[in-house]
Amino acid sequence: METPRRQRTIGGTAAVTGFGFWSGRDVRVEFRPAEADQGIVFVRCDLPGCPRIPARVEHRVEQPRRTSLRCQAAGVDMIEHVMAALGGLWIDNCEVWVDQSEMPGCDGSALPFVEALDGAGIVEQEARRPQRVVGRLLRLGDGQSWIEARPAAGNQSLFHYHLDYGQDTPIGRQTYQTAVTPDIFRRDLAPCRTFMLKGEAEWLLAQGIGHRTRAQDLLVYNGHGPIENRERFRDECARHKLLDMLGDLALAGCDLVGQFVAHRSGHRLNAELVRALVGESEGTTCWKRCA
Ligand SMILES: [Zn+2]
Repeated sequence: METPRRQRTIGGTAAVTGFGFWSGRDVRVEFRPAEADQGIVFVRCDLPGCPRIPARVEHRVEQPRRTSLRCQAAGVDMIEHVMAALGGLWIDNCEVWVDQSEMPGCDGSALPFVEALDGAGIVEQEARRPQRVVGRLLRLGDGQSWIEARPAAGNQSLFHYHLDYGQDTPIGRQTYQTAVTPDIFRRDLAPCRTFMLKGEAEWLLAQGIGHRTRAQDLLVYNGHGPIENRERFRDECARHKLLDMLGDLALAGCDLVGQFVAHRSGHRLNAELVRALVGESEGTTCWKRCA
């Protein structure tokens, strides 16, 4: 068994500003260094007493199409791209100070967060990162959409995503598979943007959601391709779903060692897998308790 890597934090502070795709509200995110074993903690500096919300699956609350956390009266929304950036860069300990509940949508990807975090510098800490090693097959979901964790071959974690929007849409069927290191994440996953069909965007607008968000801010597909935008990768949608999955798996609070295969899985199923893995002791090894 490979020795767990050292924990990491950032060397200074870094900020990202923008507006939330759902709420349209301006927001400033400031990343700050944190001590070893603290994990990722959101801090709502706009609320009295600056309440803290640990980025752990036990604080997750169900919201459509995004990942949200709530701890007592305070919450944060649409955190998955921030969590993917931190998880993808192996930044384990960080305070994320925010002055609104919803994270900035930026260009729909994790790249603005990655660039800010890289700008602050990444530093190793003394303590080792806890890991949870998948010891047996675990599968959740149904025939339509599912996610599974399997033991890793050769101790290398692998992530697969199968996207299926049907053959009669421009998104169609796509598969993406990769190991994840910070360099791979920066290059192949971080730039990949969130996406939807034109009909889904119109439905959200009719619900009063996303009025400030323009088609150029993400990938909105009509019958021919993205509206007023160009894909950064041919399979950008599948890559983005994998990015979302990494952000959700980061709510484990420890490294998950295994092969993770998702078929049309979304935030809810991803979180259920994390809950099952973190809660499971039989057949898994944890170098240090994750709780
Ligand atoms: Zn996403």
